[in-house]
Amino acid sequence: MHITCLESRLALRYTYTHTHIESPAKQHQRTSNPSQHQYQSQHLNALHVFHPKKMKARAVICVGTGDSEKVFHVESAVLCRASAYIRVHLEHLPDSSQLKEVIELPDEDPTIVEMFIDWAKRPKNPIIYAPGQYSEEPWITNAAAAWILGDRLDALKFKKYALSQFIQNCALAPRGPWKLIEENAPAKSPLLRFSNHWVAWNSSLSGPGVNEYTGLNAARLADLVKPSSRDPRIFDLIHWYLLCGNNINAQCTHDPILRANEQERRRLRRRPPPPEWGAEFEGVKPEANRSLRSTK
Ligand SMILES: [Zn+2]
Repeated sequence: MHITCLESRLALRYTYTHTHIESPAKQHQRTSNPSQHQYQSQHLNALHVFHPKKMKARAVICVGTGDSEKVFHVESAVLCRASAYIRVHLEHLPDSSQLKEVIELPDEDPTIVEMFIDWAKRPKNPIIYAPGQYSEEPWITNAAAAWILGDRLDALKFKKYALSQFIQNCALAPRGPWKLIEENAPAKSPLLRFSNHWVAWNSSLSGPGVNEYTGLNAARLADLVKPSSRDPRIFDLIHWYLLCGNNINAQCTHDPILRANEQERRRLRRRPPPPEWGAEFEGVKPEANRSLRSTK
């Protein structure tokens, strides 16, 4: 990714490429080794303070290359609110009188970047899983890819929204995105945790033989699945951000079925004990009933 002032684009591209800026894809390659990588994206949002006065009013985002390149014009502040990665790099731009900044994303898909920009302009909260309901495109097909872009751009809230969309629509996702997730989502990331659970659970349900999950790393987890293992879509979203999200057989409070069962148990415990049948019917206390019987 390159971010430059429009009129000095070429010169600064060289400067940033060779000094400050490492592309998100390269950053990911560098840190995706599970033995070295610590999942730190969330910390960046807290570390970098947004200084809006340093920003130009509008940024130009160039996505793709050649004939397939697409250009978006977006308010810098909108992008900076949504992406810590863009915010940090726009802050590194030298002070100048140029009105525009250029962000080049040659390796990204314009459809996915447009999803990010649309969300950045009108941020939405994560959706809550509703069985049998599905979103509209482009979310059905591209939610996992949107999460991966959000991870590269360090866009925490966008990632959360994309994860909720993926959970809602994963059963319909054409050309299963599971391989894409295993290759791009960092270890211990919420998306990989959900994907692992889904693949293992479905592999177990599919039984032996070749299916769409064959060959995936997570398919090897199918042996861990128990009859009590849940459909992963029903868990609260927070589950995938916590360690319990690693456990395919998690018994945690993020499981609504477990919560409902526990609530019912508590309700039954609070219920008054059932009366003795004969005494209740006759309106006589049990003690009095016993003494009546003993006098006969
Ligand atoms: Zn949990």
